Amino acid sequence: MELRLYDTLTKEKRPFVPLDPKNVRMYVCGPTVYDFAHIGNARPVIVFDVLFRLLRHLYGEAHVKYVRNITDVDDKINDRAARDFPGLPLNEAIRKVTELTEKQFHEDVDALGSLRPTVEPRATEHIAEMRAIIERLVAGGFAYVAEDHVLFSPQAMNAANAVLPRYGALANRSLDEMIAGARVDVAPYKRDNTDFVLWKPAKPGEPSWPSPSGIATPGRPGWHIECSAMAWTHLGEQFDIHGGGIDLVFPHHENELAQSCCAFHANRMANTWMHNGFLQVESEKMSKSLGNFITIRELLADWPGEVLRLNMLKTHYRSPIDWTVAGLRESQTVLDRWRRTVSDNGVSSDDVDGDFCAALKDDLNTSKAIARLHELHAMIKGPSSGLAQIELQRKLKASANLIGLIEAPFKDWHRQLLAKQTKFDLTWDETLEPFIETKIYERTAARARKDFKESDRIRDELAAMGIVLKDGKDADGNPITTWEIAR
Ligand code: AMP
Ligand code: ZN
Repeated sequence: MELRLYDTLTKEKRPFVPLDPKNVRMYVCGPTVYDFAHIGNARPVIVFDVLFRLLRHLYGEAHVKYVRNITDVDDKINDRAARDFPGLPLNEAIRKVTELTEKQFHEDVDALGSLRPTVEPRATEHIAEMRAIIERLVAGGFAYVAEDHVLFSPQAMNAANAVLPRYGALANRSLDEMIAGARVDVAPYKRDNTDFVLWKPAKPGEPSWPSPSGIATPGRPGWHIECSAMAWTHLGEQFDIHGGGIDLVFPHHENELAQSCCAFHANRMANTWMHNGFLQVESEKMSKSLGNFITIRELLADWPGEVLRLNMLKTHYRSPIDWTVAGLRESQTVLDRWRRTVSDNGVSSDDVDGDFCAALKDDLNTSKAIARLHELHAMIKGPSSGLAQIELQRKLKASANLIGLIEAPFKDWHRQLLAKQTKFDLTWDETLEPFIETKIYERTAARARKDFKESDRIRDELAAMGIVLKDGKDADGNPITTWEIAR
């Protein structure tokens, strides 16, 4: 089965045909670095990581390039820097904020089991390319300079007869409606109320860079041009996939697309536009004012990153997610069950289950793929002979690995659970104890029938999970085996 992906622009699920199968290229809008990322921000990180892994599986690791930018020019960054480091010059304060936030972001997404993208460009390192695109747009008549601003004109774009797409096509809005619906208090330097900023003057003390030709004083870029420039630098004029959250469709992606197509006289920027749905918490929109704003960092204090990851992937990426503690507990139980079923032995990508992979190739249907993991698990637990059992275990592990699950050794998983689950009032069934107690019972039985090979095997199996058994005597002098986590 071929890979099919839903494209926001054409509004259909289409076969994915890379421009160059030896160099499959994907751009995803990354974080604006001024604060801890919240669990909503984790959704595109995890979803596009799964896509990255799938593309690497299908086209080869060396043939996929994933670019996720870091937005380090933004008013929110400037405000945070002034607030947190009032004694420092603004430029230095900004650097402190962006460096610290970038480090936190990397720690968080690593803990979620996401691979680092091939390139993580920073906006501040691509100002020259932004200027170059802006100058092309002005030269082409798509943008104009006014009061030290450069503005893009969607109306000029739609008036051009060339191969260009129509402004508004991505968001499925007509420019006429936008013109009619736009605010009345339009900035005086705009010719039309739908024009948007490519470049603007910097406020005193703010970071600034030499402006595009036609403007004498230094200035700073608008948000949309940053991504057009970074995508162009690292992926070329056209590439395969552009992704982000659904909130970015308009205006951010519509404007990126307009800028890039007009600058390069192209009919498209990316071949496929993909957008993840929104995440809400316990049936409510997550927002600072409602006080239900949860950071990835806070969740990682209570749950292994793998639990957050599975919980995110249980829902198809285009559907909304309701993020609940009940869902997290269920995800933890499921992972623990799978973990106990497969061994730590290595598997290869050849072991990935066919039905599982087919589900992923159907527009990244992770919920269907996870249902298949449940089936594989049930088959392992069901009656079957030794060899098939081992094959099934390899399939379960290799398939889970493909979406970034069950990668770390079992003992790391257990250590995490023991460190974190104590905060929760889990039922006995949800803890590790029943599993270990069952193993101890089986070992005691083996010893009683003098099957020392089997009793040693069970002890070694637990040791491999980081659990040490101690044989001793209880108060009445009867033999008893206790356990503890290896240090
Ligand atoms: P931001 O830093 O707000 O630009 O967001 C970074 C990424 O997270 C973008 O791709 C957003 O679309 C995405 N995002 C933000 N909030 C949510 C949410 N509640 N659910 C899903 N994705 C989100
Ligand atoms: Zn972007």
